[in-house]
Amino acid sequence: MGFAVGVLPGDPDISHSVGACYDRTANASDSFMIASDLRNGVEQLGDMIAAASTIVPFTGAGISTECGIPDFRSPGGLWTRNRPISFDEFVASPGARAEAWRRRFAMEPTFAQARPSRGHRALASLYRAGKIPAIITQNIDNLHQASGFAAEHVVELHSNTTYARCIGCGRDYDLAWVKQSFETIGAAPDCTLCDDPIKTATISFGQAMPEDAMRRATELAQHCDLFLAIGSSLVVWPAAGFPLMAKNCGAKLVIINNEPTEQDDMADLVIRQDIGETLGPFVGN
Ligand SMILES: [Zn+2]
Repeated sequence: MGFAVGVLPGDPDISHSVGACYDRTANASDSFMIASDLRNGVEQLGDMIAAASTIVPFTGAGISTECGIPDFRSPGGLWTRNRPISFDEFVASPGARAEAWRRRFAMEPTFAQARPSRGHRALASLYRAGKIPAIITQNIDNLHQASGFAAEHVVELHSNTTYARCIGCGRDYDLAWVKQSFETIGAAPDCTLCDDPIKTATISFGQAMPEDAMRRATELAQHCDLFLAIGSSLVVWPAAGFPLMAKNCGAKLVIINNEPTEQDDMADLVIRQDIGETLGPFVGN
């Protein structure tokens, strides 16, 4: 079976499915430390980046807030004002499909105008330098691709909101086509090939996690020597298992987030500073 978004830690499905190096009992870092200030954090991070040969970043909403993309889960965020529409509701109800698409169209100016942040550009610089083979992200905004990552090197755990996909046959559709069809027929359009509903390509609550992305993220986490968890509160499972997996496979773990996370005590370095300020010095390296 696949993973579902929102699975809780401790779900027995996770530990055997994600493979080796998953053991929460043997992982407390000896050298857990919080950078005393921004400058200290940047210096330590710079040393760790210089010493690493294979860096795998894992990004969450925090890297994109500088771009004007809201953190849907944050207090006051969209998901606290508009209850998310689950995958089952979407499939079962034409009204839910129409509402989901109305919300997505309302967000279009935000997504269309967003440009990569300093954090995105810093990671793209390290990618171009050959330090980063691929990136794992919980984000759906396409901004890592826009910053210079080849699409095949962006592992999207929650897929992508910048295009649509038939939930039956998997055919992709442009959002512009969906919007035009919606306005013409006054309802969410179905697939022209198989008549199943068309949905943004994102993974909804209750929808299975993409198996290929989970497999690739697992391989990346298991085969790096520096893992950077950036802008994620590390509470949404199974995605939040990857930093732990990397650590248990021998990588150094750095957590960069404004707020404390669930896994700070596992990290070799915690930088509780603004992401743009922290990664800005690495743009163009
Ligand atoms: Zn179809």
